Amino acid sequence: MGGVKIDGRGATSVPGLFAAGEVTGGLHGANRMGGNALSETVVFGARAGNSAADWAKRSGAKERRSVLRRLDERFRAFESLRRDETGLLDRIRKIMWEEGGIVRNEAGLSRALGNMRDITGSFSFSGPGNKKTLTSAQVSAIELRSAARAACLILEAAIRRVESRGSHCREDYPKRNDQQWMGHLQVCTAPYGDVWEFIAD
Ligand SMILES: Cc1cc2nc3c(=O)[nH]c(=O)nc-3n(C[C@H](O)[C@H](O)[C@H](O)COP(=O)(O)OP(=O)(O)OC[C@H]3O[C@@H](n4cnc5c(N)ncnc54)[C@H](O)[C@@H]3O)c2cc1C
Repeated sequence: MGGVKIDGRGATSVPGLFAAGEVTGGLHGANRMGGNALSETVVFGARAGNSAADWAKRSGAKERRSVLRRLDERFRAFESLRRDETGLLDRIRKIMWEEGGIVRNEAGLSRALGNMRDITGSFSFSGPGNKKTLTSAQVSAIELRSAARAACLILEAAIRRVESRGSHCREDYPKRNDQQWMGHLQVCTAPYGDVWEFIAD
């Protein structure tokens, strides 16, 4: 049950960005009991909403502007797709459904990762633009690139964890390995590269 890392208030590592529910990870370990997901959305949704409101009240105009400027620069960096994006999101979904699902193995995961990296290579980075608003094509490019990037991280995490745990089944490593894998695999993405860390429970 992976996802974005949050603290008890729903805060992510991005200042001013709060998250709750299915997009977050860490609360349930490697599996989730029936009914717990909906309780989670109610409890953590309220916490994240209240925390976001507190943050907005507490932070000054300068802090808010700096967050927006950073987001804006990041969004404008993805100006366009090199080729037509029609069908790309469906392709991402199909790859993840077929090779990155509950039952997986190294061959399928590596194949999927290669295909997903090809997709991330279809975006051109034309640098920050001057336009006041984003075009719908730019918004699609941002969403697609983010989806492909998230898929790459999920696949890489699944390749690294060479055991089966909870609802994650590796056909090639069917047994649970508490000695080496009792804990969380965390990735921090940064401009100079991804930093992977194993945090033992
Ligand atoms: C088949 C199935 C059965 C389940 N059964 C149970 C159960 O019995 N008990 C239980 O506790 N849990 C169950 N779950 C899990 C539970 O439904 C989810 O964990 C919960 O709904 C997650 O809520 P959420 O608000 O975090 O995300 P979601 O419900 O996925 O809400 C995300 C929302 O964001 C919208 N969105 C996405 N992208 C964008 C975008 N770019 N811009 C604007 N909006 C966007 C989506 O349209 C959606 O409305 C089940 C899940 C599934 C799939």
